[in-house]
Amino acid sequence: MSEIHPGLVRVRGKYVEDFGYLTSYIIYSNDEAVIIDPGTAGDPGDEIIEALKKLGLNPKSDVIAILCTHGHPDHVGGVGVLQRKTSASIMIHEGDAMLLREPSLFVKERLRLDFAGRFSMKLEKGPLRVNYKSIEPDHILRDDEVISVGDTRLRVIHTGGHSAGHCVFYEPQNKVLFSGDCVNNFPNDPRKFYLDLSGDIADRARALDMISQMDVEYLLPAHDIPHLFGDISLQVREARIGINHFQDTVLRLLKARGDSDIQQLVYDIEVSKSIPIPEALDALLPTTLEVTLSSLEKAGLVRQKDGIWYSI
Ligand SMILES: [Zn+2]
Repeated sequence: MSEIHPGLVRVRGKYVEDFGYLTSYIIYSNDEAVIIDPGTAGDPGDEIIEALKKLGLNPKSDVIAILCTHGHPDHVGGVGVLQRKTSASIMIHEGDAMLLREPSLFVKERLRLDFAGRFSMKLEKGPLRVNYKSIEPDHILRDDEVISVGDTRLRVIHTGGHSAGHCVFYEPQNKVLFSGDCVNNFPNDPRKFYLDLSGDIADRARALDMISQMDVEYLLPAHDIPHLFGDISLQVREARIGINHFQDTVLRLLKARGDSDIQQLVYDIEVSKSIPIPEALDALLPTTLEVTLSSLEKAGLVRQKDGIWYSI
């Protein structure tokens, strides 16, 4: 556990290669605490319970809420355990609530993995494995709602983009933004990203543009280290460039072929090494590509028929 400023600590979870350290946060006052994104941090949740005790809090009675920026397993994996050890209200946006209610939907619908893919994901015990039971959220987060803990106020901003229900939480007094996976989920390369099949690349671009205009001094992602002051604009700018580069590359590769299915484009991207792609899980590139092509279709830049994409 490390203090970011009085009343806010970071709890570092597992190191998972490309994804850096999974990271959770605790906001607290004398007798109240909120946990943000209890993924597999602390394997899972024990480090968070220990941190609460060290802060002089009673996990059973003082944790009022568990806030989820979104429903991906690497960030909600510890929710069930902490729900049993606290009396917290579980909060998530409706767009991702189904991933808590029915965890298997993540591989079935958000990544659309075949049996081999699911099998290998279980086998490698990666950060996106789903090994927890159904949880019914207690509270559905809405855009612009305010969550209070002690004197701290957190504004919920629904961004979508990375997944349909992705939210960020803004604390204006200390200019803190809990950014989940909105800005960067591959800490060593802000241009590398993935979107699940409910996501939207245009929404992600809009969210980054919005964040670049906000007054933020602490950008606290769900992966790896906090970004402070000048480093924040660098991270946001690089992530934004990553989106443009991804879209441009997809358009260029599709134009070179004239028409293509997703698998062919995945192959072209891999062979040309033209895009920094997640190496940890092969399944993340096809989903990000499909979501990007859908967005380019809406913009009138490509068209699709029977699973074949055409350059315009
Ligand atoms: Zn995520």
